[in-house]
Amino acid sequence: MEFSNLLVVKNWKNNGLGKICLTDALISEKSDDNIIIDCKGLIAYPSLINIHDHLVGNWIPKGAPNRPYKNTSIWVEDMKKSESVLERSNFWKSSIDDLTKNNGIAMAMLGVYKNIFSGVTIVQDHIPNQKNAYYKAFPIKVISDYRQGHSITLKNWWGGGELEEEMKMTKGKIPFIIHLSEGIDEVAKSEFSELEKLGLLKNNSILVHCTALTKTELKKVNDIGASIAWCPNSNIFLLDTTLDFKTVFDLNINLCIGTDSTLSGSINILKELIYTKQTFTQIPFSMLFKMVTENPAKALILDNYNGRIEINRDANLLITKKLKENPYENLLNIDTPDIELLLYRGKPIFGKADFLKYFTWNPKDFYLFELNSQKMFVIGHPEDILNKIEKKLGYKKHFDYLPF
Ligand SMILES: [Zn+2]
Repeated sequence: MEFSNLLVVKNWKNNGLGKICLTDALISEKSDDNIIIDCKGLIAYPSLINIHDHLVGNWIPKGAPNRPYKNTSIWVEDMKKSESVLERSNFWKSSIDDLTKNNGIAMAMLGVYKNIFSGVTIVQDHIPNQKNAYYKAFPIKVISDYRQGHSITLKNWWGGGELEEEMKMTKGKIPFIIHLSEGIDEVAKSEFSELEKLGLLKNNSILVHCTALTKTELKKVNDIGASIAWCPNSNIFLLDTTLDFKTVFDLNINLCIGTDSTLSGSINILKELIYTKQTFTQIPFSMLFKMVTENPAKALILDNYNGRIEINRDANLLITKKLKENPYENLLNIDTPDIELLLYRGKPIFGKADFLKYFTWNPKDFYLFELNSQKMFVIGHPEDILNKIEKKLGYKKHFDYLPF
């Protein structure tokens, strides 16, 4: 299959008019059939990576009745009493030990759709490691090769082993992910030295938030080659502040943007990018793009996808309308209806229904709907999840990240 005549954004530095060939799940030098799809006027990006989400947390609206907080250990308790979480508990309230039970997968799938409708095909779901069946239930990649800690202060209250054990289990080959110093008070400030003491600062560490880190601490993060997951919308909503961006940027730390769940963060990653640019106008468009492609691919130690469009790598593609000449600026101007096609390993996930004719597809596997008078498809059946929710709640619930 060949997508011809489109602006190909290979990576954050390199883009130009050209074509992309696909053979099965991979991008290839040549097409293995005679299918040529004319994509004049469209832009192809490597599909996006969301480095920080809690899939089952994607209920709306945000739940933080007493914001701003001094640290998010206080919010974690407060959130449980928020209207949003109380409403969610009518649909899903099983523990996060095993999400394959009691609507856990349906709840997480809603979060997956949030990601799909914003061009994401790889998401890190920060929760205790689940059974394989959980990760296999999704049409895009929900990272399964990782170990985690909730935070230094609350340890693994939500499940998983001791923090040091979790790090040991990575053998340095998969990421170790932990919320760090998410606050402004002494509790948040004390977490970094504890992280070091426990041996959790390694080059495979993904440190989430880091709002209280000092310049010296950020330098240590950089020296060891760890990555930072940054959710500015969630930080500023919960804490009225975010990390020391200037230092992080000057040091060139591997910084990745994530959404967090909608209980505290943006509606989706496209909105998170817009928010970040509005808040930190000095960040170039191309850097923002890198923070949701190459940087997280590196942090997550992905095997066959590096967040670029490259021959013999996974065909994870996001094809969109062109609203701006500069493709990196364009990414910050598009919304769900501007996505023409989203592919994960060469498979159609979401897009204009017109594209389906080029693929072998079974109507049973897709939900077809109209968006701005355009026929669209999405993989799976989100409408069934919404019906289930309506049945449990007794009324219709709308989720802002769903385009129906
Ligand atoms: Zn989080």
